[in-house]
Amino acid sequence: MNNKTNVTVSKAPEAMSTSICPCGSGNLLDACCGHYHAGHPAPCASALMRSRYSAYVLGLVDYLVATTLPAQQAGLDRESISAWSAQSTWLGLEVESSEVFGGQPEHAFVTFTARWHDSTGEHSHREQSSFVQNDGRWYFIDPTVEVKAGRNDACLCGSGQKFKKCCSSYF
Ligand SMILES: [Zn+2]
Ligand SMILES: [Zn+2]
Repeated sequence: MNNKTNVTVSKAPEAMSTSICPCGSGNLLDACCGHYHAGHPAPCASALMRSRYSAYVLGLVDYLVATTLPAQQAGLDRESISAWSAQSTWLGLEVESSEVFGGQPEHAFVTFTARWHDSTGEHSHREQSSFVQNDGRWYFIDPTVEVKAGRNDACLCGSGQKFKKCCSSYF
């Protein structure tokens, strides 16, 4: 199975280039998540997590799609991602921890809290998200996107292991 994907390069508007990164790192956007939005691979799951939060803030839907597990990308609803991104006022991100899973360095969990405000009020959402590394890139595993894989099929993440021994618990 070929898991290579074309990562769409999304450029933040020029006006953003001297602004502070929305992920809360305190660094300039270009020296932080903007680097990954421009196509450089995030070096670890927590960096990818932060850059995805920033992408929600900046409305970079292409980036959010490109950093989701390739086997799930076709199942994403771009319009609802875009609407959620645009209709929310993003209040901040806190990354609590990032840990590799079961001694497999290509799998990681990131625990974080994201806060935002929308028409229904203010929200604070704490979540543990799953990430997987394949071909030097980290991908978010979206638990809401159904995938078709038998338990004995090769795992969707491209690890070469059987699905039941690899990412099946994430779905
Ligand atoms: Zn950042
Ligand atoms: Zn897997």
